[in-house]
Amino acid sequence: MKAKTMEGREIDLEQETLNGLKMRLQGPMFTPGDVGYDESRTVWNGMIDKRPAVVVRCLGTADVITCVQIAREHELLLCLKGGGHNIAGLATAADARLVHAGSDENTDLFWGLRGGGGNFGVVTGIDYVLHPVGPEVVGGVVAWPASAAPKVLELYRTLVEKAPPELTLTALMRPAPPAPWLPKDMHGKPIVALLACYSGKPEEGEKAVAPIKSFGNPIGDVLVRRPYTQMQSLLDATQPKGRRNYWKSEYLPRVEPSLCEKLIDHAAKIRSPHSSIGLMHIGGALNSLTDDHSPVGNRDAHYVLNLAGSWEQAGEDRANIEWAREAWHDIKSFSTGGTYINFLTEDEGPERTKAALGKGLQRLAEVKARWDPENVFRTNRNIKPV
Ligand SMILES: Cc1cc2nc3c(=O)[nH]c(=O)nc-3n(C[C@H](O)[C@H](O)[C@H](O)COP(=O)(O)OP(=O)(O)OC[C@H]3O[C@@H](n4cnc5c(N)ncnc54)[C@H](O)[C@@H]3O)c2cc1C
Repeated sequence: MKAKTMEGREIDLEQETLNGLKMRLQGPMFTPGDVGYDESRTVWNGMIDKRPAVVVRCLGTADVITCVQIAREHELLLCLKGGGHNIAGLATAADARLVHAGSDENTDLFWGLRGGGGNFGVVTGIDYVLHPVGPEVVGGVVAWPASAAPKVLELYRTLVEKAPPELTLTALMRPAPPAPWLPKDMHGKPIVALLACYSGKPEEGEKAVAPIKSFGNPIGDVLVRRPYTQMQSLLDATQPKGRRNYWKSEYLPRVEPSLCEKLIDHAAKIRSPHSSIGLMHIGGALNSLTDDHSPVGNRDAHYVLNLAGSWEQAGEDRANIEWAREAWHDIKSFSTGGTYINFLTEDEGPERTKAALGKGLQRLAEVKARWDPENVFRTNRNIKPV
C-alpha cells in the first residue's frame, strides 16, 4: 500500500507492517475500501478530502503510543483527528513518549498546550475545573428582516459595551434558515439576528435581554429560559457535517458604525442560503489575563468577525470563496491585526498563524524545539522549532 512520509515522499507500506499494527491495537483500524474508512477519514468541512493510507480509532493511550511508534519507525506522516470540527481539517503528528504536563511538571509544555495548537503531542487525558452553569440559562435568538440591520447592529454595539460578564451576544446576518420559529415566507430571505446567552441567574438574564426582545418588529423570537444543554446545541441544525465551508476571520477592538455599513453591504451579496456574517463578542475574562498567561494571544480583542461562506456543491466553490475574500479585503483595516486560530481555513499561511499567536510565537518555537525538534507534529498551524 502507498503511504506518505513526513517529507512528502510516497513509499510502499508492506502488508506485514499493517498486520503487525492491527495485532497491537485495541481500537479498530481502517484502510481504503474498508467499511467505516470514509466515515473515519472525513471531517466537518466537506472541502477537505484527505485519504490516509491507514486510519486507527485509538482506544486508550497504548493505541496512541503504538501508532506513533510505527509512524516514526517508517517515517510516516501521522495525523491526528479529534472531533474533526476544525475548519481547516487539520490534524497533528505525535511523539511516542507518555508525559504529564501541569503547573508543577513540564511547565513549558503545559504553557504551550494551552493555545499552541496540536504542535507538541497527543493529549490523551485532561484534568480541568468546571464552573457551574444552569441547569437553566436565558438564551436563544431574536430575528428581524435585513432592512432593520442598521438599527439592530447599533443596538448590538451599545448592549455589548455595557454587558455584564454573564451575557454573551452575537450578531448574525444571513438568509433565514428554514427554522420552524421563522415565518415560512421569510425562509431564504435576508435577516439580521441577535443570539444571546446569559449564564447567570435566569431572572437577571431576563432583565438583561429585555431590550432585545422589545426592539422593533421581530419576525421570530426564541430567546427564552431553556436548559443549558439545549443552548449548547441550538445552532447544530444550521451547521451539518459535509457542507463546503470557507471562512475569513478577524479580531476587532470595537464595532464602528462605518464597519457596520460595510458588513450590511456584504451580507446583501451573500451567494448561498447557508452563508453568514457573524460578529461574536469575546470580552470579559479573556481580556483580563496577561499576555504571558498562555500562548492564546490577542488579549486586546473584543470581537471576532467571521465571514463564513457555506454551500453545497463543488461547482459553487469559486463564487462563495470570492464572496468571503472580497468582504475580508474590504473590512481588514478594522482588525486589531490579529485573527482567531480556530477559524483559519486551509489556505492561510504562516503570517496568519503569526497573527493568531502574536507575542507568544517566539516562546512557542522554543517549547517546540524542546518537545518536537524534528517537527513530527507538522500537519497543523505549524510552529517551527528554533
Ligand atoms: C461550526 C463551527 C463552529 C465553531 N465555533 C467555535 C467557537 O465558537 N469557538 C471556538 O473556539 N472554536 C469554534 N470552532 C472551531 C473548533 O472548535 C476548533 O477548530 C476545534 O479545534 C475543533 O476540535 P476537534 O476536536 O474537532 O479538532 P480536530 O478538527 O479533530 O483537530 C483540530 C486540531 O487539534 C489537534 N488535535 C485534535 N485532538 C488532539 C489531541 N488529542 N491532542 C493534541 N492535538 C489534538 C489536531 O491535530 C488539529 O491540529 C468552530 C468550528 C465549527 C466547524
